[in-house]
Amino acid sequence: MDILPSFNTPAWGDDISPASFPKFEGDAETDVCVVGLGGSGLSCIHELLRLGKRVIGVDAGTVGGGAAGRNGGFLLAGTAEFYHDTVAAIGRERARRIYQLTLAEIDRISSETPDAVRRNGSLRLADSEEEERDCQLQLSAMRADGLSVQPYEGPDGRGLIFPADGSFNPLARCRTLAQRAVQLGAMLHEQSRAVSLGNGEVRTSDGCVRCKHVIVAVDGHLELLLPELAGRVRTARLQMLGTEPAPEVEIPRPVYSRWGYDYWQQLPDGRVVVGGCRDRFIDDEWTTDTNPTTPAQSCIERILRDTVGVTQPVRHRWAAAVSYSSGILPVMDEVRQGVWAIGGYSGTGNVIGALYGRMVAQVAVTGTSELLPALAPNA
Ligand SMILES: Cc1cc2nc3c(=O)[nH]c(=O)nc-3n(C[C@H](O)[C@H](O)[C@H](O)COP(=O)(O)OP(=O)(O)OC[C@H]3O[C@@H](n4cnc5c(N)ncnc54)[C@H](O)[C@@H]3O)c2cc1C
Repeated sequence: MDILPSFNTPAWGDDISPASFPKFEGDAETDVCVVGLGGSGLSCIHELLRLGKRVIGVDAGTVGGGAAGRNGGFLLAGTAEFYHDTVAAIGRERARRIYQLTLAEIDRISSETPDAVRRNGSLRLADSEEEERDCQLQLSAMRADGLSVQPYEGPDGRGLIFPADGSFNPLARCRTLAQRAVQLGAMLHEQSRAVSLGNGEVRTSDGCVRCKHVIVAVDGHLELLLPELAGRVRTARLQMLGTEPAPEVEIPRPVYSRWGYDYWQQLPDGRVVVGGCRDRFIDDEWTTDTNPTTPAQSCIERILRDTVGVTQPVRHRWAAAVSYSSGILPVMDEVRQGVWAIGGYSGTGNVIGALYGRMVAQVAVTGTSELLPALAPNA
């Protein structure tokens, strides 16, 4: 296994310029303080700005420095579960509505940050006969509800193609949204960890934001910041690696296989990124640590070599924290008076996280949202 200088650096930063925002210091007063500047927090901030609110956003690290800028870059419609499983869990109408909302969100992400997005679909590749049968169930359920899906049979095996899905550079999107939010009047601060929340204020090590509403848009580590959510969300580590450009393979669309545990895609410049193996080291990966480990990285590298067929050297290895929800849907709750939290996207928050960001902004400020009937965890 190569150990490289770019250890724990994602593949996404290579070709985009960095952004930087000042540390929060002193006292300030605003309408809403958003904690966490990943994809969900930034979506929330844009909605708050649209609603005419004054916003301060703080992040313990950097914009997109959490999972939102360190993920696989898949834009998948639906929930974290396959469509037929979602239908079984929450019913057909609601499953279909959520699927449609996530499709519309992918359209929105594409139109907001077109340079970062490719609408190249996605492929679910069956890894066993049992999974092929499961693909058939998914195909029937989706077709019955008029959702776009095609059976796939090709050199890699059998599975399903979802033509409306896509992929993106998640870090590029975060940086673009952050810069745009500042232009629209938001005040954003990096290296500003929230250490206490509640009673109309957010305290960081160097200052205090007084505000009417606090919105916590932290996915990984959520239950550490808000212990009230322990039992409803649980932090896990996900790991990936990225290679040099690999002309020996041509992967036209993002692929996930083995029930979604393993996933890979080829970037426009030919590099390949691969993630997975969490289930092989499940006890180790229920952790708040965000460093890559040799066993999981070796396992991912075997997928890279044996399944994906890439021979190029590995250039990046990285990990990040997400949280898994105990239910089929993520969490949105007013955890303390005036303190709202979202998270628990169960490893697939690029699309649904943006929707939850918008929904929590609307609910915190106006008391309701058109997204609630479909997305409210207990609706
Ligand atoms: C390796 C990997 C691959 C993945 N692949 C995909 C994929 O292909 N498709 C997909 O849809 N999803 C994927 N995911 C999941 C997806 O990345 C997350 O669900 C999503 O990014 C969550 O976004 P977020 O904005 O809610 O949280 P985050 O991106 O984690 O952002 C939260 C931010 O909060 C900050 N923060 C934490 N604590 C504090 C504090 N106390 N004070 C201030 N700030 C704080 C962090 O620094 C961080 O920047 C993947 C995740 C990983 C790790």
